[in-house]
Amino acid sequence: MTQINQSGSSAAPKAFSTVKVTAPPRVRIAPSPTGDPHIGTAYMGLFNSVFAKKHGGTFVVRIEDTDQTRYRKMSEDMILKALKWVGIEWQEGPDVGGPYGPYRQSERLPMYREAAEELISKKEAYRCFCSSERLTQVREAQQAKKEQSGYDRHCRDLSESAVKEKLASGAPSTVRLKAPIGGQTVVHDCLRGDVSFENTQLDDMVLLKSDGFPTYHLASVVDDHHMKISHVIRGEEWLSSTPKHVLLYRAFGFEAPQFIHMPLLRNPDKSKISKRKNPTSILYYQRKGVLPETLRNFLGLMGWSMPDEREIFTTAEMVENFTFDRMSLGGPVFDLQKLDWLNGKYLRTLSDDQYLHALKEVTLGDEYLKKVIQLVKERVETLDGFVSYAHFFFGGDLNYVGSPLPPKGVESKKAAVILNELLDRFEALDEWNAKILHDTAEAYCKDSGNKTKDVFMTLRVAVTGTLQSPSLAETCEVIGKEIVRRRMRLAGEYLKKMPVPPPAS
Ligand code: GLU
Repeated sequence: MTQINQSGSSAAPKAFSTVKVTAPPRVRIAPSPTGDPHIGTAYMGLFNSVFAKKHGGTFVVRIEDTDQTRYRKMSEDMILKALKWVGIEWQEGPDVGGPYGPYRQSERLPMYREAAEELISKKEAYRCFCSSERLTQVREAQQAKKEQSGYDRHCRDLSESAVKEKLASGAPSTVRLKAPIGGQTVVHDCLRGDVSFENTQLDDMVLLKSDGFPTYHLASVVDDHHMKISHVIRGEEWLSSTPKHVLLYRAFGFEAPQFIHMPLLRNPDKSKISKRKNPTSILYYQRKGVLPETLRNFLGLMGWSMPDEREIFTTAEMVENFTFDRMSLGGPVFDLQKLDWLNGKYLRTLSDDQYLHALKEVTLGDEYLKKVIQLVKERVETLDGFVSYAHFFFGGDLNYVGSPLPPKGVESKKAAVILNELLDRFEALDEWNAKILHDTAEAYCKDSGNKTKDVFMTLRVAVTGTLQSPSLAETCEVIGKEIVRRRMRLAGEYLKKMPVPPPAS
């Protein structure tokens, strides 16, 4: 679908950037608050803020919460807190305000409605009254005929009187863009050059949904324009949305910002970073005891390098040397071993006092220790037995070799399935506490038909490495979701690799 010019082939090691800075730039990240704060948000936050700082510009955080079904206030708070922990600073945002607010899309709804009306009156957009049933039928018919699926433009040419009549009858409607039917839309990406998209591939996209909420495309373009964003620096996964944005800028008659699509972070096997293979939550790295300065340095190495190629640098040094000319588009690998190595380098530069402070921030703080004491007190006779009994509250990954995994009576493949399936349920939880964890595990036993004992013992060994632990659900609550989920995943992988014992003869 896309043609990427010479300089933009993904094999090209270095991008030839066409980024222009003629005035202090205004840049933004626009996270959607739909779960744990993602490491990709910190990645984009770092590069946006470094670029802004380099050129005396402004970095904005905007919350894209228009998908109300997925919106979580808690998640917004977590994102902002996590970014602050990483040490990323913004000058405008929902928490600090600024001249172009509000910075939460759900508080800007009238603007999007007005914008949609404007496009209708310019005949660049139209109302669509098709029901979701009709749209499903159209899609199914297209699939059956192996045609490209998309809206069949049924309402595109409705007469004004027909539209009025339908509106008067109270029929729900969406607003769609009148996209060009033939030809191509060219996106200029500052790292890839011109990328062209066939317009036949671009739908008459919905701009405003029937509930009056904008789609991502409309809200993003309206906000980037009104917030005077000069450079849109975002992940490569949004490149395919950009021709739609270009069409929208044209329809409004707005000047488009410069687009810079950053390479995707990858798992070691080069697939797109995913929580199946790599922890993707910033909170995991915080909990693991990665220092924020390590994380910023590490993210700075993702697709970018210092002029002298040195790997250890501060954010201030990154700002000083920053240029998009030093970007490389070959997918950077988010390699945990390298992150550990780098963190070790940083840790060793700490004074003993700083080290102690860092330890207290992670798992040796009074609050955390008290929670562990509550669970361990009944089980330890002398204080010198505390650390060896409670070791699993303090480590990160466990070594299962020689551990009772899988527990007796549970076949290894089955134990792996149990952990995987339970992990899916744990990952879907909005809250993480003993009661919810216990109920979730019980419900899983019931639904899957597995014995409670098999499920709980497998989980216990995966999370603690031992057959004895305090109440499992409480232990999981205290250890925290980041480490528990990581251990479940690693234990599952370990089990999958175990040889299946030969059948008893
Ligand atoms: N809300 C989008 C996200 O979650 C923003 C994409 C963009 O930067 O335009 O990443």
